[in-house]
Amino acid sequence: MLNQANHVLKSVFGFEQFRASQQAIISNVLSQQNTLAIMPTGGGKSLCYQIPGIVFDGLTLVISPLISLMHDQVRQLNELAVPVCMLNSSLSSEDYQHNVKAIEQQHVKLLFLAPETVLQNSTLDLLSRVHVACIAIDEAHCISEWGHDFRPEYRQLNQLLERFPSAVCIALTATATPRVREDIKRQLHIADSSEYIASFDRPNLYIEVLPKDNPYQQAKTFIDQHPEQSGIIYCQSRSGVDELTTKLQHDGYSVLPYHAGLNNVKRSDYQERFIRDDVHIIVATIAFGMGINKPDVRYVLHYDLPKNIEGYYQQIGRAGRDGLDADCLLLFGYGDTGKVRFFIEQMSNEQEKRLANMQLNQMLALAETEECRRLPLLQYFGETELAEKCYKCDNCNNQNQEKSDLTVPAQKFLSCVYRTGERFGASHIIDVLRGSNAEKVLQNQHNLLSTYNIGNEFTKKQWMALSRQMIQKGLLRQDEQFGGLKLSQQAGEILKGRAPFFAMLQQAEMQIHSSGKTFAKPGDAGLMQILKAERKLLADAANLPPYAVFADRTLNEMAYFLPHSEQNLLRIHGVGQGKLAKYGEHFLRLIADYCQQHSLQEVSNEQPATSVSKAKSSQTSSSAKSIEIAKAFEAGQDISSLAQQLKVKPSTVIHHLYCYVQEGHKLSPAGQILEQSQLSDTQLAKVLAAFTEHGTQRLKPVYDGLKEQISYDQLHLLRIYYLNTKAKN
Ligand code: ADP
Ligand code: ZN
Repeated sequence: MLNQANHVLKSVFGFEQFRASQQAIISNVLSQQNTLAIMPTGGGKSLCYQIPGIVFDGLTLVISPLISLMHDQVRQLNELAVPVCMLNSSLSSEDYQHNVKAIEQQHVKLLFLAPETVLQNSTLDLLSRVHVACIAIDEAHCISEWGHDFRPEYRQLNQLLERFPSAVCIALTATATPRVREDIKRQLHIADSSEYIASFDRPNLYIEVLPKDNPYQQAKTFIDQHPEQSGIIYCQSRSGVDELTTKLQHDGYSVLPYHAGLNNVKRSDYQERFIRDDVHIIVATIAFGMGINKPDVRYVLHYDLPKNIEGYYQQIGRAGRDGLDADCLLLFGYGDTGKVRFFIEQMSNEQEKRLANMQLNQMLALAETEECRRLPLLQYFGETELAEKCYKCDNCNNQNQEKSDLTVPAQKFLSCVYRTGERFGASHIIDVLRGSNAEKVLQNQHNLLSTYNIGNEFTKKQWMALSRQMIQKGLLRQDEQFGGLKLSQQAGEILKGRAPFFAMLQQAEMQIHSSGKTFAKPGDAGLMQILKAERKLLADAANLPPYAVFADRTLNEMAYFLPHSEQNLLRIHGVGQGKLAKYGEHFLRLIADYCQQHSLQEVSNEQPATSVSKAKSSQTSSSAKSIEIAKAFEAGQDISSLAQQLKVKPSTVIHHLYCYVQEGHKLSPAGQILEQSQLSDTQLAKVLAAFTEHGTQRLKPVYDGLKEQISYDQLHLLRIYYLNTKAKN
């Protein structure tokens, strides 16, 4: 049966592998053992009952407390051509009857129900006429009075198990203390050996905390780093939400508010618009998030301090459910701590007060730690075997780096602040430095300045980090009211070259986010835009959220591998038979047209996408030949004489050297490579920065990033030099 599950994973969902714990859980359920699965939000719980539901003969009941979540699952499964439906009070009586009939005729594999619906006599009657193979109970913590979200209807679900004794039960939750877990197991007859607790770590979330010194500017900067992407901003109070929403709307951002003070119609309308990508940002109180399952939220910003780690974790967990990288930023101000303390002081119950204080202190420990942020976070969830560093939080990245002499970049930045009149924030200064064509740059004619387009050696994020360090060191002051940066006297010293500037350079994105699990190579940007626009059109026409048509990762892989046949389209993550039948032809045509217009070739995707880099490196693993050539090179022979001697083209020699350094070996000396490339120091710096930004797997993005000014021959050489600087020994 496990083989069947693997087959369904690929053919229906288009996924390559099970995630950690999914396989064990599914195999336990398939062997008819009642099972408890505890996994973080975004961990992939749904698959744990969807796959058994598809594999089993008969019907699988899925009990879920929230209609919006049911609805979301039903539409996603329908898109995958899995026959599913739901029964709840939101349906018209016609639809209800239609679904009942489909169930009676055994056309349905998974049936989604609210707990109160399933316990109604009419439903039980209906179910007694079909074969119920499996009962999945989502948000299973609702069953326990000890939980934070107890629901009395859940308490009666054990009657359901008695009624269908041959059905296997799987209970799932993202939050459960040991006491709640015991309670769930006892009520649903789950053996201790059938309890699976996945790690609560979400390695794709980058966690950062910044001192809250100018929150509105900081928020805008953070949002600007994620243009056109979905994000959630959490505020403590309703008035805070309203105020921030108004300001952002005024500044032209696509944003809507969400809090319990808005009426139901507005709340669900705003939520739906966010899910459908009609609006990019939701500013919300903690009331937002329970009922949504949007997988492609790319960032979560905490504008105020959360009251406890549990809440913080739940809220950041709403980012990056699709497993792709997402950013979480907490703005941490001592004023906020004071507010929370004041609030706690008002509590009359001593025990509650103590608890709240303890929770606040745990939260502060996370905000103030100089160690890896994941330590306090995961320790809170009782995980003990933790790595010292995660490399995916601000602290790990800072410690990771030595301070280096950044006097020249600092001078560029400061002089750009000066030339733009000390009126603009960091984001705009960086746009000017990086030669952006943003409207604000052009309107102010900042494209005519001598500091325009001289800062491409760093990514926007790196410049941001640098600017923060300059603020911290007192070189720049931020205008309280407008957020513009102004120079201090100290800045003058650096500008005149009388003082050096040492700071920590943040590693570029590609290197920081090295969890290695996700497919990180960017697809062709032009094609990506076309595919996204098409997805939105199709989604709107079918009244679906765009992610239900195809996930971002799917489009990205299409734009990278450029599949030309159905067979190759099926190799793309998230494309199974259902999606192929529905959208295959359509997307293949778009890809083919684009490739023709831009003379692009399909990229081979023989290996599963997740192991592309592995496949590449084994293909290029240093053979005896590469080693021999590397040794001769190290002994002082140059590339052309080696080529002559071995009767091969110089490019073959270069290829062997590339294989050698790509394996992590170091060539020394490597100066020869630089001589041969004949680039000036400035050009060289630009090329190296471009490799840092775009990676070394493919040269095209680097070539494009350098505005086609450096030839591919030179790039082949400099890639060796670049990789060599990263090699250990
Ligand atoms: P949860 O219910 O635990 O919050 P979901 O079941 O919604 O999480 O899964 C989160 C996301 O991860 C979904 O977009 C889902 O398609 C994706 N996903 C789950 N399992 C896998 C897998 N094995 N491979 C790739 N993607 C997966
Ligand atoms: Zn860390």
